[in-house]
Amino acid sequence: MYDLAILGGSVVSSDSVEVADVLIKAGAIARVLPAEGSRRADRAGIRASREVDARGMLVMPGAIDPHVHFGLRSRGTVTADDFASGTACAAAGGVTTVIDYADHLPGMTLAQSAAIRLAEVRGQAAADYAVHQNFIRLDADFGEQLAQLHAAGVGSVKVFTTYKDVGYMLEGGDLEALLRAAKRHGVLVTVHAEDDAVIVRVRRQLEAAGSVSPADHGKSRPAEAEEQAVREVIRAAEAADAPVYVVHVSTRGAIKAIAEARRRGLAVMCETCPHYLLLDEGRYAGPNARLFIMSPPLRTPADQDGLWRAVTRGVVDTFSTDHCAFTPEQKALGQSCFDTLPGIPGVQTLLPLVYSYGVATGRITASRMVEMMCETPARLFGLSARKGRIAPGLDADICILDTTARRTLSGADLLSQAGYSPYEGMKVGCEVREVYLRGRLVASRGRFFGARGAGEFIRASA
Ligand SMILES: [Zn+2]
Repeated sequence: MYDLAILGGSVVSSDSVEVADVLIKAGAIARVLPAEGSRRADRAGIRASREVDARGMLVMPGAIDPHVHFGLRSRGTVTADDFASGTACAAAGGVTTVIDYADHLPGMTLAQSAAIRLAEVRGQAAADYAVHQNFIRLDADFGEQLAQLHAAGVGSVKVFTTYKDVGYMLEGGDLEALLRAAKRHGVLVTVHAEDDAVIVRVRRQLEAAGSVSPADHGKSRPAEAEEQAVREVIRAAEAADAPVYVVHVSTRGAIKAIAEARRRGLAVMCETCPHYLLLDEGRYAGPNARLFIMSPPLRTPADQDGLWRAVTRGVVDTFSTDHCAFTPEQKALGQSCFDTLPGIPGVQTLLPLVYSYGVATGRITASRMVEMMCETPARLFGLSARKGRIAPGLDADICILDTTARRTLSGADLLSQAGYSPYEGMKVGCEVREVYLRGRLVASRGRFFGARGAGEFIRASA
């Protein structure tokens, strides 16, 4: 007797889409029985406490958003979505695992910093989660600390090439030294790549010219800053002979540099976000410029084209949202582009947008979508033993996607405490139907049925 049977859907993996029944027991996938090739007798004997008819639907692994910020403290306030509401948004959007961040705390080792963050979110999460450990300084024993971090189940660190003013930036040869040590200890280095010197220089120019309104945000962090920083990151990775992962790539120049590096055989991986693919800098000219302030900023249509081409050619490894939600009231606390809280909500709209503008438009296949949203993030961040595929033994994290539905996105229908969506009014060609986390229904058609605290920390392994 199975707990749950999801019957007759088109089960998607990175190499196939086939009609199959998915049988679930005790939170894990027990069997996947293809409609073709499995004996009628096998299928006749199936009994489950609950059966779900998924005919005509895509049945995919729960998506992984490898870049979110829930309950992030910033400039005297905290994001509108804490871990509870953020993971509820995720679940409603078909995202069953999120990867958030742990601050690198003064006087603490990496593992101690991670433990403090994990203790803080435990009991809040409604989806499964992991963390990237921020890395802002090289302590004398940082190699040993990386080993401890890995042993504690955290498989990645994040560094910044900017935010020097708040002490986040790694200087000089520190990135290269970190890359060498991280490779030895099986830790993946992820990088926020914008060149600090360029950003500081442009800021001085804009301040001198009095061009510091929210409408100037795009200018304040130019494409050149990202492209230069990405080239420097590639240089460091090549020198260290180590893999590296660039977060939220937003420009044509940066993705071109990454494509070139990959052609030379370097392990330079990257993510981009729906907002860089679907929104452009024209938003800063509108009345709601603040609501579109995030770092890096929105770019030009030519950058969007370059990113989409890279997605189609397989140069982009994963999609993330950088979900970092603030209400319009919080956003309005800022007077200039420099003091407006940066970040937008997005985790609930990730899958609908990628499906509608990636798969339904023919830019990528459904299999490639599942590879980019499930299998690859699981592999890169050490979660593959439990996440990323619909296969026996893995967690029964499943999303049923109705690709016949047509909807218009509206912040009012979404669960984020931000209260708005940057994608307001955009059409999507699908609906996230049932979402299961380890065999339990956590969301259905935009409504959340999960439980705060039901999410588990997923240790990175391998
Ligand atoms: Zn971020």
